[in-house]
Amino acid sequence: MKDSNQNKNKQNIEVRDLIIVGTGPAGYTASIYASRYDIDNTIIGNLPGGTATKAHKICNYPGLEDISGMELGQRMQDHAKGLGAKEINAKVTHITREGNLFHIKTPKREFTAKSVILAAGTKRRKLNLPNEQKFLGKGVSYCATCDSFFYKDKIVGIVGGSSATTMAASHLAEIAKKVYIIYRGDALRGDLVWKKKALKADNVEVLYDRNLRALRGDKKLEYVILDKPYKGNKELKLDGIFVEIGSVPEISFVNMRISKTRSGYIKVKPDQSTTIKGFFAAGDITTASNNFKQVITAAAEGAIAAQSAYKYLSRL
Ligand SMILES: Cc1cc2nc3c(=O)[nH]c(=O)nc-3n(C[C@H](O)[C@H](O)[C@H](O)COP(=O)(O)OP(=O)(O)OC[C@H]3O[C@@H](n4cnc5c(N)ncnc54)[C@H](O)[C@@H]3O)c2cc1C
Repeated sequence: MKDSNQNKNKQNIEVRDLIIVGTGPAGYTASIYASRYDIDNTIIGNLPGGTATKAHKICNYPGLEDISGMELGQRMQDHAKGLGAKEINAKVTHITREGNLFHIKTPKREFTAKSVILAAGTKRRKLNLPNEQKFLGKGVSYCATCDSFFYKDKIVGIVGGSSATTMAASHLAEIAKKVYIIYRGDALRGDLVWKKKALKADNVEVLYDRNLRALRGDKKLEYVILDKPYKGNKELKLDGIFVEIGSVPEISFVNMRISKTRSGYIKVKPDQSTTIKGFFAAGDITTASNNFKQVITAAAEGAIAAQSAYKYLSRL
């Protein structure tokens, strides 16, 4: 397939066989499989390694018992590039379709491709509270792995109740003086190992059945307001708050009619194809893998998408 690609169309525009959007586990795996199918592929993304890089530790990827998300992402990138992927570090702003070709725009360049694999993952859900943006980097964080060291011997809170919350709590417990998990439910969810680890730490306390109402402080976060009192007070003094309340897909740059759920996840068939011919999707952005959003499922979907792209390109 490599011989026929990167050819020019009638308007003398370079037409690539496959463009993969997203440099996370789904995107890199799609690229690895595409290269093994001898498809010349270009991968465009703005965060090498993807969301996995926010994981302090990944302990459930087969063959790698204990690896930081950052290292796993780096290894995937090296693997994909080693097999010949061209990687472009940029944010895709538009994807449109004209006839059988896709046009992918970044702020500086435009690409044309016969097929696309969208592997753009999800972005972190925000609290949507006043001051959230103002205190970003001054007490508000969306990444415990990245920002924990700013909170050595300090008091921090984590909003949420999932595996990401308990993983963050376990990590922060080793650095901060005190860690409050603020959770609206009455039982933490997710991976049991992280849950047990967090609950075992002496300095972790869970405030169940509570929501955050406000973030207060002058130049930086100083305290939060809870909807129900803790030890008789709705004000809780915190040096930092970590937001771990899930993620949502962001596909506003896909300027085509495509079947998706109400929350924006792309509906795919078992072969990762979408309602648009030649346009495949893989990873956290899709409804596949029983909505189990993990590195291994993202990688598997990337592999399937590459196989489907190969079949599609072979028929053209
Ligand atoms: C704190 C935390 C801990 C986790 N721990 C684990 C764990 O232990 N084990 C596990 O299996 N999973 C874990 N996960 C989940 C795992 O990280 C994800 O399921 C996985 O990364 C999804 O891969 P993906 O390739 O679909 O998307 P992502 O990893 O989100 O990658 C998407 C990529 O697309 C890029 N992108 C998005 N929009 C654009 C655009 N417009 N233009 C260009 N590029 C774009 C992004 O920058 C990113 O590089 C964790 C997640 C978090 C947040």
